[in-house]
Amino acid sequence: MSGKIKLINENGLRVDGRRPNELRPIKMEVGILSNADGSAYIEQGKSKILAAVYGPREVHPRHLALPDRALLRCRYHMAPFSVEERKSPAPSRREIELSKVIREALEPAIFLEKFPRTSIDVFIEVLQADGGTRCAGVTVASLALADAGIPMRDMVVACAAGKVDGVIVLDLNDLEDKEGEADIPVAYMPNLGLISLLQMDGILTIEEFNQALNLAIEGCKQIYRLQKEALKAKYVAIKEEVEETCLQ
Ligand code: ADP
Repeated sequence: MSGKIKLINENGLRVDGRRPNELRPIKMEVGILSNADGSAYIEQGKSKILAAVYGPREVHPRHLALPDRALLRCRYHMAPFSVEERKSPAPSRREIELSKVIREALEPAIFLEKFPRTSIDVFIEVLQADGGTRCAGVTVASLALADAGIPMRDMVVACAAGKVDGVIVLDLNDLEDKEGEADIPVAYMPNLGLISLLQMDGILTIEEFNQALNLAIEGCKQIYRLQKEALKAKYVAIKEEVEETCLQ
């Protein structure tokens, strides 16, 4: 976060032409892997991420099983080709940290107590990274959990806000993340009004922090609407397929 590159132009627009409170273009699709119990895909700007869910299923190794609830396991992984310079496929400290924070962001939403002695395994594969992958990872994992039919209190949506060139902005891309002054990733459950992930990198005043937090929550609410549309689109497609089969 050096703040040397000009990130906001004279018209108040960002490096990719967005206004400060604008999300990147987002595309989501549910149910794309037939061999997983649930799956989803997200494109948020240039970040592209796939999530697969397996479970509830028998826990291996068995001694990890919990007597009163399901064991939620998450693996966040960046493909070696997901960034410009090849990334080692071995798990990095960053990936271990992100796997943990994503698990903690999803955990409060899932009725884990309904599936004692089982595991629910969530795999998040970053195919292309351009900033905001932990947030997009939470959003897409939540869709994959819903697709697997796992009962949840609410969907979890995540989005970051931050500060670049002195301006509070929504949904930072890689360049804004690296060259900007601050970044706050937030995971939010819109119907419950609860935050399940809140991190901060950089420096903000209390006023700026509150402004960025509110902006991130507004971003989450917008993404939540897209999440619901993606889930509905899957069931509309299934309904049309069934109707077509019945007419034949
Ligand atoms: P997030 O993706 O959640 O914003 P970070 O702030 O740690 O997480 O990373 C910001 C961005 O930095 C990533 O989205 C990615 O574009 C880039 N990045 C992360 N790790 C690497 C790496 N090993 N090599 C190159 N770029 C990376």
